[in-house]
Amino acid sequence: MSSVPVAVVTGSNKGIGFAIVQALCKQFPGDVYLTARDPGRGQEAVAKLQKEGLHPLFHQLDIDDVQSIRALRDFLKEKYGGLNVLVNNAGIAFKVHDTTPFAVQAEVTLKTNFFATRNICTELLPLVKPYGRVVNVSSMVSSSALGRCNQELQQKFRSDTITEDELVGLMTKFVEDVKNGVHEKEGWPNTAYGVSKIGVTVLSRIQARMLNEKRKGDHILINACCPGWVRTDMAGPQATKSPDEGAETPVYLALLPSDADGPHGQFVSNKTVQPW
Ligand code: NAP
Repeated sequence: MSSVPVAVVTGSNKGIGFAIVQALCKQFPGDVYLTARDPGRGQEAVAKLQKEGLHPLFHQLDIDDVQSIRALRDFLKEKYGGLNVLVNNAGIAFKVHDTTPFAVQAEVTLKTNFFATRNICTELLPLVKPYGRVVNVSSMVSSSALGRCNQELQQKFRSDTITEDELVGLMTKFVEDVKNGVHEKEGWPNTAYGVSKIGVTVLSRIQARMLNEKRKGDHILINACCPGWVRTDMAGPQATKSPDEGAETPVYLALLPSDADGPHGQFVSNKTVQPW
């Protein structure tokens, strides 16, 4: 078994994930895994970084597929006995003018951004080694969407006692409410992406609390973050940040030094803890 530290970035064949891998290859003292659901796109991205003299490794990972997640989990367990850094970056967003029915958008968006990210955490968090760092890429849209929830939902999402099961129940309810045409009446904002990212931010807060309760001595730090508005296929060419700039906050959180005791369980943007 290798004792080399290992970092894994989900959805890293392009966009912000690719830039995170690029930065980690330069700064992380260990093996860095670029992962992609499509091996062809993944290998192409690896070759691009190799041309720059960097040496990422590759593993297939489709976060929507639990078998794929478990294959990565078993590989990490066997080769490294766990992992040191996990960046949950993979995500999707329908374009503003997409005509797909909102009920479908809600189901598909929540499936990847929230439920699949949670599945990764369920399988990989137990493998994270002491002093490990976990970064869940959320969005400032999670804050604005939170502000547009009714008071009861806001209170639940800000609660310091909400459980993962309760959060899963709420995310499931959103999808159901949209399908039944009652989501606005039930106090939800009109954004599937925003609600999915509320889920990612709240999940990170819950996971930090669980780590405090169950693995306090392991000094693992987990946070949600916003990369900013970044020029990628998701956000388009008008966005203000380059992918390298978008990678800065996730990379900062992934490389928090071993003597850092925070941020932990926070929502971070521009390397600064944001109010939730
Ligand atoms: P992007 O260019 O569209 O890249 C998204 C990446 O996620 C791609 O590599 C994509 O793979 C991958 N992905 C999607 N579904 C996946 C799945 N089921 N399994 C594995 N990989 C999957 O988007 P981006 O702008 O870099 O976004 C990265 C993250 O930042 C997302 O979580 C996004 O919500 C968040 N974010 C972005 C912005 C922004 O302004 N760009 C702002 C706030 C937050 P394929 O190539 O196979 O599709």
